[in-house]
Amino acid sequence: MGKIAAFFDEEKTMRRSLVVGNWKLNGSSELVAELLAGLKAEAQQGDFADTAVCPPLVYLSQALVAVEGCDIQLGAQDVSLYQTGAYTGEVSAAMLSDLACRFVIVGHSERRSLFAEDDQVVAQKFIAAVQAGLTPILCLGESLGQRESGEALPFVGRQLKAVIDAAGVDALKDAVVAYEPIWAIGTGKTASPDQAQEVHAHLRTVVALESEAVAESLQILYGGSVNSANAVELFAKPDIDGALVGGASLKVEGFSIICRAANQ
Ligand code: PEP
Repeated sequence: MGKIAAFFDEEKTMRRSLVVGNWKLNGSSELVAELLAGLKAEAQQGDFADTAVCPPLVYLSQALVAVEGCDIQLGAQDVSLYQTGAYTGEVSAAMLSDLACRFVIVGHSERRSLFAEDDQVVAQKFIAAVQAGLTPILCLGESLGQRESGEALPFVGRQLKAVIDAAGVDALKDAVVAYEPIWAIGTGKTASPDQAQEVHAHLRTVVALESEAVAESLQILYGGSVNSANAVELFAKPDIDGALVGGASLKVEGFSIICRAANQ
């Protein structure tokens, strides 16, 4: 499949699956070379779902060369909300696009909590990404306290609505949503398939209130301690269209199992 793959499979009249690896602040040029050589060899067997990895920004150019000749796509882990100018340390969406980067993660809970990104900042980053031709992967998710107090659905609904209100529902045609309960990220504690399905279906309903067509085609990934052992049952749920994977994306064997599971 080409770099600009259609994410709607007309033959099966269903959404395509997508698996994205978020390498976070991990790696070295040696590890990038090793991981991508391994993944490329696995992907070339032809049985992966659509797959992307998001290395640290500094390794993006190296990664682009490393994935040449296979269908693995690249994403960035964050993007500036600014386009150009005196913003030391920032990288714009246009720069990522210039590198032939396809995806960018926006609103990851680590950015929201550790770098104080609120819904407005996330929405601006989302818009900057769409305008530059990138596909934003919009992350949403509740805390443990919110889940325990029955607030999970309204909370993630509000997070999604903030972006819809700022960008317009049609912007979601060029985007992916990732439901990532904060209590499941990097904890080894996964949402059960039923818990995840409930939230995914709710998110789709929130979008459907504005556009049923956009809701139907929107890919909603699950993220939060996905691994080679739990991926199959998560992907069996009708509204789970793949995964955003942190820790388990740093090992070729386990990540490959997830990429294949999403293709069943
Ligand atoms: C993430 O960082 O988006 C994530 C889901 O991490 P992990 O798979 O390690 O929980």
